Amino acid sequence: MNITFDDIGPAKIIQFYAPQVPFRAFVVIDNTARGPALGGVRVSPEVDLKEVYRLARTMTFKSAVADLPHGGGKSGIIADPKDPDIERIFRTFARMIGNLSDYIPAPDMGCNEDSMAWIHDEIGRVAGLPEEIGGLPLDKLGATGYGVAECAAGACGFAGLELSGARVAIQGFGSVGRAAAHFLAEKKARVVAVSDSRGGVHDPQGLDLEQLFAAKDTKGTVTAFDGGRVIAGEEIFTVDCDILVPAATPDVISAHNAVEIKARLILEGANIPATPQAERLLAERGVLIVPDFIANAGGLIMASLEYARKTEKEAFAAIEEKIRANTRHILEKAKGDGILPREAAERIARERVRSAMRYREYTYS
Ligand code: NAD
Repeated sequence: MNITFDDIGPAKIIQFYAPQVPFRAFVVIDNTARGPALGGVRVSPEVDLKEVYRLARTMTFKSAVADLPHGGGKSGIIADPKDPDIERIFRTFARMIGNLSDYIPAPDMGCNEDSMAWIHDEIGRVAGLPEEIGGLPLDKLGATGYGVAECAAGACGFAGLELSGARVAIQGFGSVGRAAAHFLAEKKARVVAVSDSRGGVHDPQGLDLEQLFAAKDTKGTVTAFDGGRVIAGEEIFTVDCDILVPAATPDVISAHNAVEIKARLILEGANIPATPQAERLLAERGVLIVPDFIANAGGLIMASLEYARKTEKEAFAAIEEKIRANTRHILEKAKGDGILPREAAERIARERVRSAMRYREYTYS
């Protein structure tokens, strides 16, 4: 595959193979100038080096924009997360990366707190642990959704909106979507539509969140909630609203449906939910987009604070302070320089990384 080596990385690309188990794995450490690379372990039969290499760069930018003392890295284990031998796979992987002291693994697709605990048991260097051994359960606490709500608080003024009373539509009702709904409602926003993989539900007056959570928990889908009109999944992009939060899968907003979006503000809860073309089209229409690596950084901030042995209270305070400040900073730069917020965020991240690189020499660990 083609790897582009630029002015910041990637510093290390490592492939592992354990024929006795058997499985293969990759680690890409993109840059460690700001601190050891913190990044998730993706476990999937399909994960490949290209995906891991791209995600490692995203982590470098995400940590730098959030102003965390970390660089960016990512790893991939080619395996089925449901493999009966998964504990052995994680423990073997942990021993493989034991000497890579500039990489701190964290949970990603195909991981849970148990898998992080196995890594911890082997090498003692990991984020995303169970509570019993000092972890902050970021999905249970809703760290990323909390960050989305703080991002809304920082961004509304730039879109000419008041968060109190703003109408919100959310695509995806998993860890991120649910917590975003909860914390946005706490700030008096009105959640008017939500969707999951089976469809959505809409009520212009606002949905009763407690009943909605109960319907999702008992029946497995938001469409079982009977307090609103059931809509097709794609309709979430056309409902009348002020704020849209895509919190499901990548590339759901394309040039095709961007024209129908009525929101004035989009907060990217999911990773890369909009194609670059859609982001440009929306900006031309005056829709403000806060990119993923600002809007969904809450989980990363909490993971970083857990690693630094901070408390839940300190982690929430850090998410609030960092995401609000970074949102404003990026949107001011975008406005001042006449560029898209994503470009502004990337420029700031790159500047911070390069500035840290002036004080560091590359070292083998
Ligand atoms: P999750 O698996 O808990 O929830 C995903 C939700 O999306 C589910 O409700 C599912 O039904 C829904 N969904 C799937 N396909 C859909 C579709 N086509 N239309 C509507 N809904 C659909 O996942 P999550 O942890 O909430 O993550 C959501 C997104 O946010 C992912 O892109 C993830 O990479 C990103 N993200 C998550 C975190 C985190 O802390 N969990 C942090 C940063 C980014």
